[in-house]
Amino acid sequence: MLEIAVPSDVAAELAAIGRFVAARGWVPATSGNFSRRIDEGHAAVTRSGVDKGNIRPQDVIAVPLSGPMPAGASAETPLHVARYRGDPGIGAIVHVHTVAATVLSRAGAAAGFLELEGFEMHKSLAGVTTHEGTLRLPIFANDQDTQGLAERIESALGAQEPVPGYLLAGHGLYAWGATMVDAQRHLEGLEFLLQCSLEERRRDR
Ligand SMILES: [Zn+2]
Repeated sequence: MLEIAVPSDVAAELAAIGRFVAARGWVPATSGNFSRRIDEGHAAVTRSGVDKGNIRPQDVIAVPLSGPMPAGASAETPLHVARYRGDPGIGAIVHVHTVAATVLSRAGAAAGFLELEGFEMHKSLAGVTTHEGTLRLPIFANDQDTQGLAERIESALGAQEPVPGYLLAGHGLYAWGATMVDAQRHLEGLEFLLQCSLEERRRDR
């Protein structure tokens, strides 16, 4: 497949989300990665080992949504590609390594999900209009075989997931949306809910 260039506005969006999450300490030590759909066959993904608070145009690579990954793509690129293939409505994906996501994903790993109940911030998620009810955030076991992991995740998830994100145990949080604005709001909302949940567990111990 012919390699395509990353449009400058797409690279700029990825740099902007990088500055946003880096300022909050959510991508320590060059961890995390971000992506944006370019067209029906490609996405732009951040390269591995890049300072996510200072993403330059050359730090972003265009990858095909089917076929082999180009050299230099992040090891977690298959997780992004699989989501774009699994849900055509997804336009952007953000992945971070926060303390709350890392701790709570380990605590809930055996159950396979984390339940968040009764928070006003549920409404930060697309389609959620009330604090009432329970959000179930899926948790998957971490795996260095990200291709196999992506296949397991996609067979468990479907298009139009009620909660636009999942946790990898001991690893971090993935969140997505129709646009980068939506993905950022979902990331911020889910991370806020995780921090609340972590605080409550500390208090209840
Ligand atoms: Zn990661």
